[in-house]
Amino acid sequence: MTLAYGKVILFGEHAVVYGRPALAGGIDAGVRLEDLRPRPAGARLRVPDWGLEADADSPGALGAALARLAELLPGPGFDVSLRASLPLGAGLGGSAALSVALVRAAAVARGADWPAARVRELAHELERVFHGTPSGLDDMVATHGGLCLFRRDGLATGTPAGAEPLSPQAARLPWALPALVVGQTGVPRATRDMVASVRRRWEAGRAATERQFERIEGCLRRGLEALRVRDLAALGAAMLENQACLGELGVSIPEIERMVSLALEAGALGAKLTGAGGGGGVIALAPGREAEVAAAWRAAGFAAFVTAVGGGAAAPGPPGCRLRGLHALAPAARREAVATARGLSLAELAALADGGLSLEAADRLVENVLGRYGLPFAVAPNFLVNGRARIVPLVIEEPSVVAAAANAARMALAGGGFHVEVDPAEMICQVQLHHPAPEEAAARIRAAEPELLGVAAAQDPALARVGGGPLGLELRCFGPEAPGEDGFVVVHLRVDVRDAMGANAVNTMGEALLPRLLALCGGRPGLRILTNLADRRLVRGRVRVPPAALALGGLAGEAVRDAIVSASRFAERDPYRAATHNKGIMNGVDALLVATGNDWRAVEAGAHAYAATRPGGYGPLCTWRAEDGWLVGRLEMPMAVGVVGGASRVHPGARLALALLGITRAAELAGVAGAVGLASNLAALRALSTEGIQRGHMRLHGRAAPGEAR
Ligand code: NAD
Repeated sequence: MTLAYGKVILFGEHAVVYGRPALAGGIDAGVRLEDLRPRPAGARLRVPDWGLEADADSPGALGAALARLAELLPGPGFDVSLRASLPLGAGLGGSAALSVALVRAAAVARGADWPAARVRELAHELERVFHGTPSGLDDMVATHGGLCLFRRDGLATGTPAGAEPLSPQAARLPWALPALVVGQTGVPRATRDMVASVRRRWEAGRAATERQFERIEGCLRRGLEALRVRDLAALGAAMLENQACLGELGVSIPEIERMVSLALEAGALGAKLTGAGGGGGVIALAPGREAEVAAAWRAAGFAAFVTAVGGGAAAPGPPGCRLRGLHALAPAARREAVATARGLSLAELAALADGGLSLEAADRLVENVLGRYGLPFAVAPNFLVNGRARIVPLVIEEPSVVAAAANAARMALAGGGFHVEVDPAEMICQVQLHHPAPEEAAARIRAAEPELLGVAAAQDPALARVGGGPLGLELRCFGPEAPGEDGFVVVHLRVDVRDAMGANAVNTMGEALLPRLLALCGGRPGLRILTNLADRRLVRGRVRVPPAALALGGLAGEAVRDAIVSASRFAERDPYRAATHNKGIMNGVDALLVATGNDWRAVEAGAHAYAATRPGGYGPLCTWRAEDGWLVGRLEMPMAVGVVGGASRVHPGARLALALLGITRAAELAGVAGAVGLASNLAALRALSTEGIQRGHMRLHGRAAPGEAR
């Protein structure tokens, strides 16, 4: 569980002190929760990665910060162990990440889910203990991650830097950056000396220094525009110009200039120092060449790592959509957190505690009811689908499917989430007519198509009112199987079923067509039923994941990416593997369909039938490749789902699931199902192709995994 992010400054360091804007990004490296135990009072902290261990009585700033925390939050204490994946004192916001992590640990220990503003406010108080007058930028990014456009007021008037009350304005931006390479010179310099030297320069020649700040602001604006249109070359150029300005302000040093040159030689589009200069941090934008830049820096004796920047938390969506730490809460507290995030009534969600279905409603749903059968109703938060954040409800009995979907959704955030396209809701009803001369019958039916479509349309005025209805007929002829037998003609009635799954709707139309077909052609009646091979109603999904978001245990993200691609190729060549690969996709898809009252058997049937229609025979519904260094997944499968009809309106739990998702259209649900399929597949392949699925199951659940692999 990530509690706080590290940060890089893309544009605007130093200038921000004088009232200019700065653009900062949260990086994937941050501070995670390792272990948390209650204590009667006070906090005790361990961060082995930074060699830190302290409680409120310890000497130094850390002890003082823990004492301040106890003052701010009297009451029960906690013993927390944190993992840090970024260096401390590197200008990457390590101390702010520690402050935010401490506050979030306190929240988890209390079962509270404080809004980000409260977390930031408390963390800022701890930052004061560490730094006296923090700007607020670091704790803002540590709290939110994502990209933050930050401006503080008042300092351009000549007030000493940092002495003004904090007045940040932050804008969370709706896009994601590619991964950045982050490096460090290793030359120690004090940030306050850097700030003071710029101050002296400003005092000595305000007009000239302000011109530099103005140029830096220009770089930021060009950088923002480049981000908006995804012009990475322009983004790199703006970074380089910002670096030149910092050089002219006297903040850069030869080691930083050398790292910038090395990065450009290795193929970077831009590079600059990051932060006020004290930590010696340097960032490089090198899409597809990240590994080369990191290698060049390391070869020259500098530290380097590659990280996703600005994804995740910058995602747009309803306030509070980014939920963290759900797994650490009890079910009742989780319901509260989710209700708050989605603006739902707690009483409504409380119905879930009891299965969401009364015995009376169950008795109306199917026949011969004895009782109700419970299944866990869970959520996977933080799905970003076509730019909208979704909390995805999942009903499933299999352990680890929910955690896997949530993890993969988080990885996908680093690349801007899932992108999906959904076909119009076209379903097909098959009407079979046994006939001695199928071709002749087909010709008569073709000639009567307008009339037949009218008969079908008349069956469903409600569907017509919402713009749906029959679209056309297609005819398929099958000759006799043995001499002397009849063949048959199959009429495919194509229907736009709008927001319904559509089985009942098209079956009713098919039934109504049959008497008219018999009158037209003679012959004998056959079947009248939809086909579940809904191959006109596909969802296509795509996700891009930077390698840094894939790293697992000691394995670099690039190695995990390649292992996932290799696993995909295995499924593309071997149907035995493809079946299990597709089962992994359906783990998440089915769980969403059950939660929303949809007919998961229908979607299962369609999925596997579609997988078998590939030219090479049965194959995977989702494939993975490395493109420009990133892992790219693509999914294509039929998705016949509805938000009206079936159980979706009858089952109160299903209605709640749709409300949680904030979905009112079938196409939106199909898109989320596609994203969940991609996420389930990504998580399964990442585990399978690295540490193996059993270990993952056992780590998540502390018990033996079920026998089934994915
Ligand atoms: P339905 O008949 O309950 O609801 C669909 C109807 O809702 C439409 O015919 C229309 O009259 C009305 N409607 C109102 N507003 C609408 C809107 N905005 N968009 C579309 N329709 C609207 O359900 P259905 O979706 O036709 O059928 C689904 C049910 O059929 C499921 O319960 C499924 O299990 C079952 N079923 C499936 C199969 C199969 O998959 N092989 C076979 C038979 C039945």
